[in-house]
Amino acid sequence: PIQKLTHMSMQFQEGITGFQRFMEMMNIEPSIKNRPNSIKLANLEGEIEFKEVSFCYGDHDHNVFVHLSFTIQKGEYIALVGPSGAGKTTLCSLIPRFYDVSGGAVLIDGINVRDIDIQSLRSNIGIVQQDVYLFSGTILENIRYGNVHASDEEVVMAAKRANAHDFIMSLPKGYHSEIGQRGVKLSGGQKQRLSIARVFLKDAPILIFDEATSALDNESESIVKESLEAFAKNRTTIVIAHRLSTIRYAKRIIVLTEEGIAEQGTHDELLEKNGVYSHLYSKQFN
Ligand code: ADP
Ligand code: MG
Repeated sequence: PIQKLTHMSMQFQEGITGFQRFMEMMNIEPSIKNRPNSIKLANLEGEIEFKEVSFCYGDHDHNVFVHLSFTIQKGEYIALVGPSGAGKTTLCSLIPRFYDVSGGAVLIDGINVRDIDIQSLRSNIGIVQQDVYLFSGTILENIRYGNVHASDEEVVMAAKRANAHDFIMSLPKGYHSEIGQRGVKLSGGQKQRLSIARVFLKDAPILIFDEATSALDNESESIVKESLEAFAKNRTTIVIAHRLSTIRYAKRIIVLTEEGIAEQGTHDELLEKNGVYSHLYSKQFN
C-alpha cells in the first residue's frame, strides 16, 4: 500500500511537499528519491533505452523482466502490445521512476533516470495511466494540472482536442463543475478524456498512453486518436493498446509476453511472421 501511495502522490507535483510531510510524520522513508547532485534535464531529445533491465515487485520472487533490452529513438512512435499481465504497464512505470529497476538501467538521452532530478524527469513525461487519477476540484483545475501556467483558452483547446469539451459544456457548471466525492460523477471514458487533455496541455517530449482510450466508444476514440497522433509528432511516444486497430499507426510494434520481447516490427511484417502478434490479431478479429 505504501508503494501504491507513493505512486499516486507522484501524480500531483503540487501535493508533493504535503506528501513528504506526511511521510515524515509517519516516519516512512520514500524509496524513490533524488540522488545527491541529481541532474536537471534541459533540451531533451527523448531517446529511451532499456538496458538489461530486470524488475520484480517488492519481495515477490516473480521477475516481471529479466535482462530486457531495447531502445526507442527520439521522436519515434511505438506501440506496445501483448497479453494482459505481460508487463506493459510495469515497463512504462519505470520511465518516470514510479518504481526503480532491480537490475540494469533505464536511460533517457543516455542518462540513467536514477541520476535525474525526479521533478525534472517527470516534467518531461506526459502520461495517461491505465488507472486515471483525478483529484477533487473543478474540471478546469484537473486539466490545468498538466500545465499550471496555461490560460483558460488553452485548457479549453486541449479539452476540445481530447473530445471532452462537449460533455464538459453539457454539465450545469461546465468547466467549473466539481468532480470527486461531492461533485459530478464521470464515466470511465470521460475521465480518460480529461486525463488526455491534461497531457495535451503539457508540452512534454516523451508521451506514454497506457490503454488511454480503452473506455471510449469507436467514434470518440477515432477523434481522440487523430489528435493524439498529431500531437505525437516529434515526441517520443509509447502507446499501449489492446484494441489492435488503434496501434496500426505505429511504425514499430513491440510485442511483450511474460518471457520478454517476443517480436517487433511493423504491422505487416508481424502478420507475415505468423507469430504472437498475428495470433493476437486474428483472435481479435475472428
Ligand atoms: P500488463 O500491463 O501487460 O497487463 P502489468 O505490468 O500490469 O502487465 O503486470 C505485470 C505483472 O506484474 C503481472 O504478473 C502483475 O500481476 C504484476 N504486478 C503488477 N502490478 C503489481 C504490483 N503493484 N505489485 C505486485 N505485482 C504487480
Ligand atoms: Mg497494463
